[in-house]
Amino acid sequence: MFNKILIANRGEIACRVAATCRRLGIATVAVYSDADAGAKHVAACDEAVHIGGSAAAESYLRIERIIEAARATGAEAIHPGYGFLSENEDFASACEQAGIVFIGPPVEAIAAMGSKAAAKALMQAADVPLVPGYHGDDQDPALLQREADQIGYPVLLKASAGGGGKGMRVVDRHEDFAAALASCKREAAASFGNDRVLIEKYLTRPRHVEVQVFADRHGHTVYLFDRDCSVQRRHQKVLEEAPAPGLAAEVRRAMGEAAVAAARAVGYVGAGTVEFIMTGSGAFYFMEMNTRLQVEHPVTEMVTGLDLVEWQLRVAAGEPLPLRQDELTCTGHAIEARIYAEHPARGFLPSTGTLKHLRMPQGAAFTLGTAGERAAVRIDSGIREGDTITPFYDPMIAKLIVYGATRDEALARMKRALEACEVVGPHTNVEFLQRLVTSHPFMTGELDTGLIERHADSLFGAHDKPVREALALACAALLTREGGAPQGRSPWDALSHWRLNGAYTQKLAWRDPEGEAAFDVVFSRDGDTQTLHYGGKTEPYRWWRGEGAHEYGATIGDGGSEVRTTGRVFADGDVFHVFCNGAALAFEWQNLLAHAADAEHGEGRLTAPMPGKVIAVLVEPGAIVEKGAPLIVMEAMKMEHTIGAPAAGKVTEVLYGVGDQVADGAQLLVMEAQ
Ligand code: ADP
Repeated sequence: MFNKILIANRGEIACRVAATCRRLGIATVAVYSDADAGAKHVAACDEAVHIGGSAAAESYLRIERIIEAARATGAEAIHPGYGFLSENEDFASACEQAGIVFIGPPVEAIAAMGSKAAAKALMQAADVPLVPGYHGDDQDPALLQREADQIGYPVLLKASAGGGGKGMRVVDRHEDFAAALASCKREAAASFGNDRVLIEKYLTRPRHVEVQVFADRHGHTVYLFDRDCSVQRRHQKVLEEAPAPGLAAEVRRAMGEAAVAAARAVGYVGAGTVEFIMTGSGAFYFMEMNTRLQVEHPVTEMVTGLDLVEWQLRVAAGEPLPLRQDELTCTGHAIEARIYAEHPARGFLPSTGTLKHLRMPQGAAFTLGTAGERAAVRIDSGIREGDTITPFYDPMIAKLIVYGATRDEALARMKRALEACEVVGPHTNVEFLQRLVTSHPFMTGELDTGLIERHADSLFGAHDKPVREALALACAALLTREGGAPQGRSPWDALSHWRLNGAYTQKLAWRDPEGEAAFDVVFSRDGDTQTLHYGGKTEPYRWWRGEGAHEYGATIGDGGSEVRTTGRVFADGDVFHVFCNGAALAFEWQNLLAHAADAEHGEGRLTAPMPGKVIAVLVEPGAIVEKGAPLIVMEAMKMEHTIGAPAAGKVTEVLYGVGDQVADGAQLLVMEAQ
């Protein structure tokens, strides 16, 4: 076994690999960029080497620099994690040339699977079933169009070098093909430096089921069962689980064996995932093989009781696989939710900023390994409170993984665990995940890749929230901040108030920081009796500070109708974030003494949804456009975002050109509504 390895990655996966190394007594070397100087993964390793600027191209993608770091620190092997250089054949061969072990498959296997198109040709030869489509070398647009016409719409365009859903475009009609092809090629070139595409028949309501495989250098290849990753947004996985629910034992075995055949066909060694797309009838087709450890590997660890990073290290060190196929077992059920800094309701746009408050559910100790002990809740995260989500890297905050004896038990645990997640700072998908895991189709295991889109109304729409209770706590926190104990006179004195018939009356105006809603709470205090007036009701109100720093409690009503609520409140300026009854709410205090915010926003103001670069300007000043017409295309985090017209009207000014870098919220164009 190795004495020291370098981890050529960042974030949660670098921390994850370091945890196994620590357990096995292997020393670790972290690498980091400017933006990551104080990152958790640096602290998680024994040594750290600075490798360059914040942009991935200036640090985590610099092959020479990373090899040099391994040499300088005496690391015998490099674990690439996922993303960055994990599936880069040049990197694997550079390691080989430097006499450093690449903890991953042989260069040839990466090369064979690195191009989706070439992989399909290989799989065809190995009799692994494929989706109908075109994966040829000839990339003449006219030919591609003809192929698409022949396959029949809808078709799916994919970047051959792709991953993470980037570049993928569904094309419904012949007329839309050319524009989609151009956009796919642009994104593919930007993300992968290669604009080759392939075309597939777009299957309706398919499932994404994948098989974890492992191979050693001694001719053994096994499968570690399956995972269902059908719940996706923009073709990126949101929820993953093992085993895939509802598969017949024969289908499960046939998929496992097909995955092993695929791995053998390319002389695979190490951890890999063979992804299949599955129809309602249980037919499955090869999609691609990922030649690395996957983000969702923890669910497989939970049901097999194994540590896959340990297996990777053993295989890379030349040991045989620890277990044979007939010694592997799949017990219970595990589900993973990816907690992201993003705006689900705004097309899942990434969100950035400092994590001013971060509280994750209590994870049980990470005790996987030979003993097979399983954690009921596991959190894999590379981020701590106080860290910043920057636009440079993937905005994942944490992976939340739960285990249960049955799927229902795992689901119940997931629901509770999500309720315990508290994030103040960037926007997150926590509430969206809560709705998703409690949605009827997910709970009943009716999984397919269109689940989110099909249920968009209930997943994104307005939901009942404990507004009154949360307001009662927000008011308690505000009154505390503005001065004074609950029973004292000072809270009232510190705020503007007036005297009415001998009682103090105080109005606190709140608004939804993101929407239009306003909430007025009027307190009255007559002697020791306080009342709260909200939503047309006046009720007795009591509040207090809890034991912890941010804890508050309140009762509203009295006698049989008294409602008691406790929760945590974090003030970020005048925005009060309340976590209570398993929900997160935010209210902005309208400090009437301070300057009224200038709410003047001209109609048709078009602003950048996040910092990024303008990559296409589709209109000229004077253009008359329909509502929804695409106006400008921005690129941020390697993804394209099209800014559309909010209403029909005339474009009067275009403020940026192609190549311009724009700040979050910058106005891009000026329009006059019709
Ligand atoms: P990437 O490598 O970019 O993640 P994949 O080829 O793995 O791309 O596909 C990602 C997802 O896109 C799949 O999980 C599935 O939801 C969807 N998908 C891929 N191919 C098809 C297809 N032919 N028909 C329908 N959906 C597909």
